[in-house]
Amino acid sequence: MEIIVRSPIDGSELGRAPITPLADMPAVIARSQAAFLAWRSVPAPRRGELIRLFGEELRAEKASLAALVTAEAGKIATEGLGEVQEMIDICDFAVGLSRQLYGLTIASERPGHRMMETWHPMGPCAVISAFNFPVAVWAWNATLALVCGDPVIWKPSEKTPLTALASMKIFERALARFGSDAPPALVQCVIGGAELGDALATSREVPIVSATGSTRMGAIVGPKVAARFGRSILELGGNNAMIVSPSADLDMTVRAIVFSAVGTAGQRCTTLRRLLVHRSIRDDLVARVRKAYATLPIGDPRASGTLVGPLIDAGSRDRMLAALGRASAEGGVVHGGRPVTTGVPAGGVYVEPAIVEMPAQTAGMREETFAPILYVLAWDTLDEAIALQNDVPQGLSSSIFTTDLREAETFLSAVGSDCGIANVNMGPSGAEIGGAFGGEKETGGGRESGSDSWRAYMRRQTNSINYSRSLPLAQGVNFDI
Ligand code: NAD
Repeated sequence: MEIIVRSPIDGSELGRAPITPLADMPAVIARSQAAFLAWRSVPAPRRGELIRLFGEELRAEKASLAALVTAEAGKIATEGLGEVQEMIDICDFAVGLSRQLYGLTIASERPGHRMMETWHPMGPCAVISAFNFPVAVWAWNATLALVCGDPVIWKPSEKTPLTALASMKIFERALARFGSDAPPALVQCVIGGAELGDALATSREVPIVSATGSTRMGAIVGPKVAARFGRSILELGGNNAMIVSPSADLDMTVRAIVFSAVGTAGQRCTTLRRLLVHRSIRDDLVARVRKAYATLPIGDPRASGTLVGPLIDAGSRDRMLAALGRASAEGGVVHGGRPVTTGVPAGGVYVEPAIVEMPAQTAGMREETFAPILYVLAWDTLDEAIALQNDVPQGLSSSIFTTDLREAETFLSAVGSDCGIANVNMGPSGAEIGGAFGGEKETGGGRESGSDSWRAYMRRQTNSINYSRSLPLAQGVNFDI
């Protein structure tokens, strides 16, 4: 059995990927457990050396892997390159991290005692990834998990198995240079659909499951991992907004809107989906954005100059058209959003990005449609704008355009955005790896990538050490024998 992979660019066959039989999963997991027994004892800075070598191999293959990302996921060329650069960046981060897996030293209330925290490897880490960042999200997880001492089992999206297999080849080159400290099956890749993800979610031998994808998927995977007291890192859907205040620099705002709303053809978890504009500038801003949309080059993502490539498949287009129909029925005025068939490669699914002027935040707007639809709403007070921004089930990314310090700080404060990411004078998409990435509510609560996200891949142990000649008890308890 194999997956026939077709390019979203033109529907041509890119290659075939052998499907991992479900019956193989227990052996895959057992191999990962065996790898863990060896890898956990390799010193963390030495584990970091493997990631340093992986970063070197990625640099050497950046152009070719990026071209494959473009071919398989349909991203425009510069975004394909950016995705591989993100892998390289997280390698650099993880190498440094391999010497910084710090715990605290804590004052003890008992004389002659010391307390401290030690961070230990956890065991196999499953990475279930989505089609839209087919390799970078795996790298965020895998590089951190590996320096933390955890083997990795990767189940990429069944829509993008070839980029995963290519990444594995590149990783194997790093392994070959690294030498014998790395056990067999340190990183494994299994190819297939939800049933393989389910095998990982339900296995007690897989202590960490990092799952990136739709909220629908997370609602299935999360409870299954929880039911066996495993740890999940959930990175699910977003419904990201930008608040634009009257003081905003509108030239910058328009550029940020267009990149955030139509980049990756609206198929980023952080894509701008809701534009919340002060009523006084709404018509002006909508006119400017519509003008920018009118000139957007839509077409072959490999061609220089193209800014909007294809959707991943016809199902995405159908869901987009259905969402636009629903928005009209809810009182919205739709601009654009039509399928594009001329000037684009035959066999691919191309659409005009849509702008929809809405009378209110409707039920349809509260759902994530994974396509380039930008809903526009007006507001009168900042409190109202923040309430609208937060009044959706998802909580991934958000932003405000303002030159008013009070507005910016209010947006970032406890009464501001409820999202995992909140930006000022930039769009909600395009995160750097240095910060923790993830969101609240139906986005799942997980954090990946930078800051102290590494802690999710390790277990914390509290140590109390008695270097005195007596045995005092805490809280003054007496228990003399
Ligand atoms: P998807 O949910 O269809 O699939 C994601 C992955 O989950 C795939 O590997 C799939 O095989 C697997 N899967 C699906 N059902 C499963 C189940 N029941 N058990 C185990 N595994 C299962 O998502 P997609 O269409 O590939 O990606 C788009 C979605 O991903 C969007 O909702 C987007 O917002 C989200 N996303 C989120 C982030 C983030 O960091 N928050 C990043 C990228 C994408």
